[in-house]
Amino acid sequence: MRFSLFVLLSLFLVGPIPTSAGEEASLIIKNANIVTMDQQHRIVRKGVLVVKDTEIAAIGEAALADQYSAPKVIDAGGNILMPGMISLHNHTPMVAFRGMGEYAVANILFDVMFPLEKELLNRELIYVAARHAAMELALGGVTLVTDMYYHEDEVARGTKEVGIRGVLGESVIGFPVVDAPDPYGGLAYAEDFIKAYKDDPLIIPAVAPHAPYTVSPEKLREARALSEKHGVPLLMHMAEFPNEKELIQERFQSMEDGETIIQYLDRVGVLAPNLVAAHVIYADEGDIQILKERGVGVGHNPKSNTKYNMGLAPAWKMYRQGLGIGLGTDGPMSSNQLDIFNVIPFTARIARLRYQDPTAFTPLELVDLATMGGARALDMEDKIGSLEVGKLADMIILDLSAPHMQPNYDVYATIAHSAYPSDVVTTIVNGALVVEDRRLVNVDMEKHQEEWGRVTQRVAEFRKTLAVEPQH
Ligand SMILES: [Zn+2]
Repeated sequence: MRFSLFVLLSLFLVGPIPTSAGEEASLIIKNANIVTMDQQHRIVRKGVLVVKDTEIAAIGEAALADQYSAPKVIDAGGNILMPGMISLHNHTPMVAFRGMGEYAVANILFDVMFPLEKELLNRELIYVAARHAAMELALGGVTLVTDMYYHEDEVARGTKEVGIRGVLGESVIGFPVVDAPDPYGGLAYAEDFIKAYKDDPLIIPAVAPHAPYTVSPEKLREARALSEKHGVPLLMHMAEFPNEKELIQERFQSMEDGETIIQYLDRVGVLAPNLVAAHVIYADEGDIQILKERGVGVGHNPKSNTKYNMGLAPAWKMYRQGLGIGLGTDGPMSSNQLDIFNVIPFTARIARLRYQDPTAFTPLELVDLATMGGARALDMEDKIGSLEVGKLADMIILDLSAPHMQPNYDVYATIAHSAYPSDVVTTIVNGALVVEDRRLVNVDMEKHQEEWGRVTQRVAEFRKTLAVEPQH
């Protein structure tokens, strides 16, 4: 009786046990050199990272893999597993115009950019070009891009098709543009866009007043109010030009004597914790203090700023004073490469040159800027920016096998000063593979090539009519 009960019980127990033992997960990455970027800057050698749906469920030594089973297991082959790069400033659809205006940089805005945008922008170009840019970003290890442009619903569509995260700001500007025939029509467009994408798993809709010299103080306040009403980020160009004060005064007569741009914007009431300001080149010690007190995030774009000789933001000072500051590229006409790997070493070199101090930005600080720095600027440090249990699974695998990646004595030095975007082999966003073995997982390449060909053909035809574009 006792024996037969035991047999019966055994059969019952054996039956439902799954063949692969362990807790169920959706993705396991093993044999990885895990650079967590957590507060202790832990590195786990030959480590295992477990993803459940959209989140990181566990990180540990090799034995951890035995405790889980998943439909997808990636052997990282001893390569670097690290948080994805966060880009804080871009205008992704302008990738359709990349390489133009290179012979007319002094007057690029009026001789090239504005004519191009006036003549060529439409929904199709914005959608297809945004997808093209997102492809480049994903392949280069950017898992979140912050964007400011028009028809941001089309940017969202293109970005989502590739599968990366987007903080996408609908532009608000004081003159008619492609998606708003009336000045400041972007405010209404932004509200519709926010409502449509509020609960999207990848897209965070945002309001993007273009700049203090193109948006009146009243409309800046309206933009802030709209962002707060919906609990979304506010994105804006800030203190980018040496003559920005004069531009504001000319258009709005709203500046007071001796006021800096930052003091002006503080008085207007637009500096808020949900604001991510791009550039912030012209900021003195007092301005940095104001930005810190107001909790404003800063997107540093040194490649764009130096390309046009605009100056250099005091990024090193901002970082050392604890501001939420990260890296961006700016649009594809201003910083032709969209990846962040190329921005990282440049950030250090240009700061060292400016401050005459070769110790500015250690390798660890540079990797922090590109990952957690971006997360802090966006107030998303509890969700992204590092590999920690409970955070969203946004990460990349970096190939260490190329000659330029060896030797690898200090992993932060390797990432900050040696790596190229083409070293990215795998990109994972929200727990899903976006790039695997250097190939885009979600993009229908044939469809994209056809649509991209159509869009760029139109641009090429119009380009022939621009006097400043050489026809060699
Ligand atoms: Zn910009």
